Amino acid sequence: MIQDRPELVKYFASKNPGHLFLFVLPLWYLSVKFISTSDVSSGSILIAFIVGVIYWTFLEYGIHRWVYHTHFKTRILSYFLGSFHLYHHKEVGDRRVYNSGFLMIYLLTPLVVSPFLLITRHIGILSALILGLSIAYFIYECVHFLIHYKKFKSGYMAYIQSFHFHHHDKAPNKNFGNTSHLWDFLLGTYDDRYKIYKMPASSEVSLILVKKV
Ligand SMILES: [Zn+2]
Ligand SMILES: [Zn+2]
Repeated sequence: MIQDRPELVKYFASKNPGHLFLFVLPLWYLSVKFISTSDVSSGSILIAFIVGVIYWTFLEYGIHRWVYHTHFKTRILSYFLGSFHLYHHKEVGDRRVYNSGFLMIYLLTPLVVSPFLLITRHIGILSALILGLSIAYFIYECVHFLIHYKKFKSGYMAYIQSFHFHHHDKAPNKNFGNTSHLWDFLLGTYDDRYKIYKMPASSEVSLILVKKV
C-alpha cells in the first residue's frame, strides 16, 4: 500500500496540479520565445501546435491503457505502477496520487518529446509542438484533479466526470481517455454507458471524491 511507500509519493505523485506551474511555465515561456523569433509561418505554427495537442490526447490514452492498466511481471515495474494508478483505482478518494510529481515529469519528458525530433529539427516547429503538448498535458492534470474534487452538473466537465467515473466504477477496461474520448472511439474501448452513469448522491460525494489524508 501507498502508506509503505512515502518516498514514491513524495517524488512521483502529488495531490494537486499547482506545483506543475514550476515545470510548465518556463517551458511555455521558452517555447513562445523560440516561436516568436523563428522564421516559420503562422499556419505551420498552428498546425504544429494542434499536432502537439492531439499527440498528448493519444499519450493520455496510451499510458493509461497500456502502462497503468498492464500488470507487468517485472517486480520493480509492478511495484512502481501499482503504487499510483492501480492504487488510485482502489482508493479513489485518496488525493495524494491525483497528479504527477516532479520526478515523474522530468523522467518522462525526454521519452515523450523525443519522437518530435524524428519529425523536425526546426526550433520554431519543435517549440510549437512542445507548447501544444505541454498545454494539453497541463489541462489533463487539472481536469483529473477537478473531476475527483467536485461534482459537476453540466457541460464538458460533467461529461468528462461521468466518462472517467464510469471507467473507475464500472468498466476499468474501457474509457481510458481523460480529456476526450477520441482514442477510445477509434481503438474500440469506448463505452457509452457513461451517459447513464449515476454520480453518487451529494451527501456521499465528499466521501467518494475526496478523502482527507
Ligand atoms: Zn481518476
Ligand atoms: Zn484507470
